Amino acid sequence: MFKKLKKLRIILLGILVTGFISILSWLLVDSLTFKIPIFGFHNIIDGQVEKENYLDYTKTDLAKFLTHIVQGDYWVLDTNELYKYFLTKSQPIPPEHIGQKPIIITFDDGYKSMRQYVLPLLEELETEPKAGETVKVVLFLNPNSVKRAEKGASDKYMNCQDIRDGFTKGYFDIQGHGYSHRILPKLNEKELIFELSGGKEILKGCLSGVENTDKIATHLAYAYNKSNGRVREYTARYYLSGYLYNNRTLKLGWWTNPYRIPRLRAFRSDPPEKLIRLAQTASEIR
Ligand SMILES: [Zn+2]
Repeated sequence: MFKKLKKLRIILLGILVTGFISILSWLLVDSLTFKIPIFGFHNIIDGQVEKENYLDYTKTDLAKFLTHIVQGDYWVLDTNELYKYFLTKSQPIPPEHIGQKPIIITFDDGYKSMRQYVLPLLEELETEPKAGETVKVVLFLNPNSVKRAEKGASDKYMNCQDIRDGFTKGYFDIQGHGYSHRILPKLNEKELIFELSGGKEILKGCLSGVENTDKIATHLAYAYNKSNGRVREYTARYYLSGYLYNNRTLKLGWWTNPYRIPRLRAFRSDPPEKLIRLAQTASEIR
């Protein structure tokens, strides 16, 4: 009996020690990994709206968050910068960014509010005394919505002129979100190819005659955060990277898959202070 108890104590102690060591090593690895928080917003609203949506974020709260960003020592990356400096490391980080914390700010679905509220806010913030360079935001757009807005069939989404306004001023990074926001894993091969590749020319067409448009629609955010191995395989044919919406921070390491880039969700119920705290967790470039 006594021997049995002794054995049990040793086993329990072993489990405790192993658990403790695992937690310590996880904390150590976590503190050493380079973190880039990528924020995912949707529609921006000003005050009261007819139908409330948990994905809507208010202009006032967004302004609070962005003010912290422009006044702090952040480097707001676009998709191409993340790709070349961090994912593939194909180019060295420009020395002026040493000491800064990289983050990314994205908006999905291409709502009219991007032109109406986000663009004026970014322009206004640039004149802030402590603001550094232009804050560029990533817009993941559905070409079908742009097409409908162009035809005047919907005033919910941005049309070509809205996109041009933000792009030519250097505030919008225009990327893909699928032709018509369909659930990619549910599509057959033909539909999947069309959803991924179709409509790139619509987005490019909006910016015809404008310079530096070669990086347009080269990165994708999966609609509804839905992807699987097959979807990622096809995505790789048409895009350089794929973004999720899984409420996680991007932690760079050997495990980083450019077609599974995590993003943090910004819901209406998330106060700007919470987003600021998350931005502060970004690693400093050394
Ligand atoms: Zn979406």
